[in-house]
Amino acid sequence: MKVLMNDEIINRSEAKVDIEDRGYQFGDGVYEVVNIYEGIPFTLKEHIARLYRSSMEIGIQLTEQPEQLCNRLLELIKANSMTNGGLYLQISRGVSNRTHHYDQTLTPQFVAYPLPYKSVLDAQTNGVEAITAEDLRWLRCDIKSLNLLYNIMVKQKASEAGAFESILIRDGIVTEGSSSNIFIVKDGILQTHPANNLILNGITRTKLLEIMNKNGWKYKLEPFYKEDLMEADEVFLTSTTSEVMPIIKIDGITFSQAKPGPFTRKFQTAFREAVKSETKSTTEKA
Ligand code: PMP
Repeated sequence: MKVLMNDEIINRSEAKVDIEDRGYQFGDGVYEVVNIYEGIPFTLKEHIARLYRSSMEIGIQLTEQPEQLCNRLLELIKANSMTNGGLYLQISRGVSNRTHHYDQTLTPQFVAYPLPYKSVLDAQTNGVEAITAEDLRWLRCDIKSLNLLYNIMVKQKASEAGAFESILIRDGIVTEGSSSNIFIVKDGILQTHPANNLILNGITRTKLLEIMNKNGWKYKLEPFYKEDLMEADEVFLTSTTSEVMPIIKIDGITFSQAKPGPFTRKFQTAFREAVKSETKSTTEKA
């Protein structure tokens, strides 16, 4: 496997982390995961824009232009002869003596490498189970920070319960999943939490809303309660790796006769079509 480390593509075995890297010591950094379809990164520009935004929000100044980084990532995909899978990218603040405060002159450390393809087709066809958990994270969930401790804790809880995802509830309101955005459908109207500091504004979420706009399909960006979740006609989650994933059971309670509902199916299909046409048009342009 080839890894992009700062501005160099090197072998996995040569890629080393300094023990005083702040990403390693404090989780002081930000990251992204991009999906690759037939060698083409989907919504790469959007992911890179979010990476730059996250970096800026925590005070990491990147000197490289986003376009330059995109080009390096395309080289990395080529160097690994990638077809399907993902790209993991991370930026840490840099290497320094261990103190909580930092020196503005540190050099950010960048790393990117391929993630293996994992099919989610069966899960997308049949739907998955979720559990609910209290949202005890900090109040800057809009930053895609390396600090994922609470997300990990509740994902593990879901996994141990045989579920796919934990749906997080803050003050009775459904915010998002441990690694996804959550949507409900009620009487034909889609609803999801507005993009603010309480959720990560998912690229998949944004893409789906764009599709909704294009088609004139109705949706509401308003907070909703756990009761609304449990009384919804359909529930699904979105994320880069799961795309549009139906949820058929929450806390052991089954929805929609235990199968993905018609709206979820419609959105799934529309999303896949968008992926197909956008990855195709990128190829044609290249
Ligand atoms: N919320 C959280 C907390 C996440 O970790 C993710 C996955 N990155 C998402 C939402 C979905 O974001 P995206 O669609 O950009 O993958």
